[in-house]
Amino acid sequence: MERDNHSCIVCGKEGTDGISIFDCFVCRNCEQEMVTTDARDDRYLFFINQMRKIWLKQNA
Ligand SMILES: [Zn+2]
Repeated sequence: MERDNHSCIVCGKEGTDGISIFDCFVCRNCEQEMVTTDARDDRYLFFINQMRKIWLKQNA
């Protein structure tokens, strides 16, 4: 069976191992980083912005 390759919305790398949010893919590495990133961290804001962009795209 062929496995789908997805582009991670956070780092842009392609992979098959990770989670899908709103039909968008986040690789395992970024997922782990997201869970462990402090809400005051700049990277956390970056993650949120990426998600918001996708969410807006979904609702356009
Ligand atoms: Zn990633």
